[in-house]
Amino acid sequence: MTPAPIVQKFGGTSVGSVERLQAVAQRVAATAKSAPVVVVVSAMGKTTDTLVGLASQITDSPSRREMDMLLSTGEQVSIALLSMALQELGQPAVSMTGAQVGIVTEAEYARARILQISTDRLQRQLDEGKVVVVAGFQGMASGGELEITTLGRGGSDTSAVALASALNADRCEIYTDVPGILTTDPRIVPNAQLMAEVTCNEMLELASLGAKVLHPRAVEIARNYGVPMVVRSSWTDAGGTHIVAPPRRDRELAGLELVHPVDAVELSADEAKISFVRVPDSPGVAAKLFGELGRRDLDLDLIVQSIHEGNTNDIAFTVKAKDADRAEAVAREIVPKLCGGESGAVDDRDVEVKVQREIAKISIVGAGMIGRPGVAAQMFSALAEAGISIQTISTSEVKVSCTIDRADGDRAVAILCKAFQVENSPVREAADEDAPSVRGIALARNQAQLSVLNIPDRAGMAAKIFAALAEANLSVYTIVQSERVRLLEGVPTRDLSFAVNAEDADAAMASLEAIATQVGYSEVKLARDMAKISIVGAGMATASGVAAAMFAALADRKINIQAIATSEIKTSCTIDDNRAIEALQAVHTAFGLDGDEPIEVPSPR
Ligand code: ASP
Ligand code: MG
Repeated sequence: MTPAPIVQKFGGTSVGSVERLQAVAQRVAATAKSAPVVVVVSAMGKTTDTLVGLASQITDSPSRREMDMLLSTGEQVSIALLSMALQELGQPAVSMTGAQVGIVTEAEYARARILQISTDRLQRQLDEGKVVVVAGFQGMASGGELEITTLGRGGSDTSAVALASALNADRCEIYTDVPGILTTDPRIVPNAQLMAEVTCNEMLELASLGAKVLHPRAVEIARNYGVPMVVRSSWTDAGGTHIVAPPRRDRELAGLELVHPVDAVELSADEAKISFVRVPDSPGVAAKLFGELGRRDLDLDLIVQSIHEGNTNDIAFTVKAKDADRAEAVAREIVPKLCGGESGAVDDRDVEVKVQREIAKISIVGAGMIGRPGVAAQMFSALAEAGISIQTISTSEVKVSCTIDRADGDRAVAILCKAFQVENSPVREAADEDAPSVRGIALARNQAQLSVLNIPDRAGMAAKIFAALAEANLSVYTIVQSERVRLLEGVPTRDLSFAVNAEDADAAMASLEAIATQVGYSEVKLARDMAKISIVGAGMATASGVAAAMFAALADRKINIQAIATSEIKTSCTIDDNRAIEALQAVHTAFGLDGDEPIEVPSPR
């Protein structure tokens, strides 16, 4: 029996010159001795950028069709040259375009998603003992018109993993100019280390850290189809980083790249929520609070903190319902310790502890929502239409979680499955007890934080806000709605905050202004120059005290936390950007991730 094929993908730098193409050919030919090989390549070096530049000299608004026609040529140069280099080594090889290998996409230029791959022709070539060299980043629109489409910048990773799943490949190897995925940005933390492995879900949550190395859409396919991947350097034989996927799933190839941005709806029905209202807004408060909870061995789930007017914050967290009494007792005990002393501005009589025992957490999950506020808006509006009121909101890169009344839980699942066309009942990856609680740390700089104050607590308001931002095509990150309900002229109101890229701040303000009377909020506060620091690890879900350790590392440096949002495997804090570097270094050290020596990034031979 012939062994399962191996897919190898080489990025632009790896095929940046004739010498490098020849080195790639050597590596491919060596692999082809033991298994059938499909190679996916990017355009040489900065070719794609150069092509974009050429177009922009002619027009500011090129036709998307012609752009795809243009950009797809870059990869065609690489495949022909690599095939020649392989043939030159005596290795039979054939180059094929996206259309020729049967990659069928949506009829959508510039960012087409893959719908189907018909691998017959590709398989015949493999059976004849040839290495098949495929042009990444491109496909053919469905509908039989032979239209060339591209998958969006960085799309060759997606081509490679999609082919690997269609071929039931043994694995997909991504060769690049870095040694793999690092625990954090080595330009800021020179002692960052290589991760030997990382799960697909962790990788997705680390988006801002890992996206340059591996396209999130590729990771999503790997997760959904169970394709093992490895990211490694083109220049060495070092092992790189294994991207651990769940066991292979025999899923329909049709609709391979889910056209839907959401691929699961999850319900956690037996939670309780404890909130602290009006705790002092000063460094160390979250650390004290969660440090104490951690010492009592309470397993926390969601943590949400949002900024408010004046000098106070609200912080809420959820625990399993059975731990509610214990959590409440601890919470009440902690209050006096949070006030007085350095943070004495707030009197502990002002701090209120609220407990809600009958709540559920409902979440939508999917890589397709990265930066797209329309997805969150759709969730909020689906819940609103069904009359389900949202209490707190917390988002991560690939997840939006809301707390709601427990009684609404099942109905919410049904509504969201319908809204997002998710068929299966919620599947949850079993928490991995052995996984490290913190695998890596991401830092997103150049963010602005907007806080919308005193939004009437009526169904549909959050939906309106994020629909408006989606309309303006703005990327939105880390949405937080905290616990505080304030009565304004007899009307209960809530505050909501979120982050956008700094350059989008004014546009976001304008979008909010345009709906001011419709929504009826009192004010929007804008904080420019913010950063978000996030710890990510699959073991976080079952370990206690992880969030607390992060807050403590920030507190030690007197770095104030503006907002907190979490998912099961991620804790993010918004802080002032001028403390970002210091924060990243401190948190990286706190979790024992520093290596003994600076990471060496090998260079091409
Ligand atoms: N050449 C394309 C780009 O530069 C696709 C890729 O390299 O993944 O975006
Ligand atoms: Mg790339």
